Amino acid sequence: LGNKITAALSNVTRANVIDDKVVDDMLKEICNALVASDVSVGLVVKLRKNIKMAVNIQEMAAGLNQRKIIQKAVFDELCNLLDPGKKAYQPKKGKPNVIMFVGLQGAGKTTTVSKMANYYKRKGFNPCVVCADTYRAGAFDQLRQNATKIKVPFYGSYTEADAVKISQEGVELFKKEGKDLIIVDTSGRHKQEAGLFLEMQQIAEAVKPDNIIFVMDGSIGQAAFDQASAFKKQVAVGSVIITKLDGHAKGGGALSAVAATESPIVFLGTGEHMDDLDSFDAQSFVQKLLGMGNMKELMSTFSSVMDAEKAPELAARLAKGKFSLRDMYEQLTNLMKMGPLNKVLEMMPGMGQLSAMMKGTGHDSSAKLKSMLTIMDSMTADELDSDKPLKEQSRVIRVAKGSGKSVREVEELLEQHKAFSKMIGKIGKTNIGPGNRNQAQ
Ligand code: GDP
Ligand code: MG
Repeated sequence: LGNKITAALSNVTRANVIDDKVVDDMLKEICNALVASDVSVGLVVKLRKNIKMAVNIQEMAAGLNQRKIIQKAVFDELCNLLDPGKKAYQPKKGKPNVIMFVGLQGAGKTTTVSKMANYYKRKGFNPCVVCADTYRAGAFDQLRQNATKIKVPFYGSYTEADAVKISQEGVELFKKEGKDLIIVDTSGRHKQEAGLFLEMQQIAEAVKPDNIIFVMDGSIGQAAFDQASAFKKQVAVGSVIITKLDGHAKGGGALSAVAATESPIVFLGTGEHMDDLDSFDAQSFVQKLLGMGNMKELMSTFSSVMDAEKAPELAARLAKGKFSLRDMYEQLTNLMKMGPLNKVLEMMPGMGQLSAMMKGTGHDSSAKLKSMLTIMDSMTADELDSDKPLKEQSRVIRVAKGSGKSVREVEELLEQHKAFSKMIGKIGKTNIGPGNRNQAQ
């Protein structure tokens, strides 16, 4: 998604005259990128109309920074799509907040119930969990194990088949015990079935939840809108959690889930562990959406100029999230072979500002790259190959002296390497080998 939008935006930069056609072409490309990223067509049409209204051609012709205006309009509209115009339910201390989880089987409900209990426990709540999944064998054990791990009381039964009865009993018991956050985990099915929905409604009626949270697997693609709508039609969904955003999910489903349920996203699931739960922030979500795209575009550019012999080896290392200073050295050398450098630099985390700065001073960015290579030339082989780049001040000073650069410049380079490896860790699971260039979106 990100790289296509970035590409569309850079076409605007390249165009000498900004007119309706340039803006229309750009919007078309952005819309295609959004649809390809699993955003529903209806939403995309809306987004296109809004951006078109936000972008004032006259104003742009007057010489304001055109790219910035359009970029901001795209950013704002994506944020807008993630804002249903109502606030999420916030559990309040001093009363029993009953939260019910719904969603398809495998969406991540049971995992997320436990993550959320853990989250609120840390905030000083007294959470507890109720297993109302009597459908799937092992469901109670799974919740019980998670609850034990995070030391949170649980309620459930191996023998009782009536999910409505269990949830009612559990909630009543925990209310009596004075628990202030009672989370009810329900069962799922492989698809939206009448039986599941009926049970869901009956449980909702029995426990009268303060909030119903719809949990959706972030990687289900275009199915997101319909699935979310189906649940919204059956129960009063109040908030949304998108899971598995640590994998190959393209993120567009999140926009659809908000639109379909008219409910805010509260958390994102980013892994299988109890701590892999992020509070949702629309702006940083959109930033990430765009930023990751840039990185992937950069990686595919890398792989297109990469030494063919070394490519598979590097790809394997990157897939493990490993990116040494020597890897950076080699990639920067490759960068020197490509142009225009400023565009490439803009794609790199932490380098965008650098590139903008250099444009301002009229400096050639390749001078900066050469300076970085000079610094790395003064490092030892061990320092270049280490997974933990050098930290000790004495080494930093030695490298600065040896390369004739300032300590600040060496530290900047190490910062850049850190930002780079962090991004690589995150996208490590994505295909970046030379044979997979088309998947880098
Ligand atoms: P449920 O059927 O809706 O209760 O789903 P579960 O909680 O049992 O999760 C199904 C599978 O997805 C399990 O293997 C979980 O470990 C996994 N899972 C849940 N959330 C996440 C997530 O955010 N990231 C990843 N990678 N896996 C997740
Ligand atoms: Mg479950």
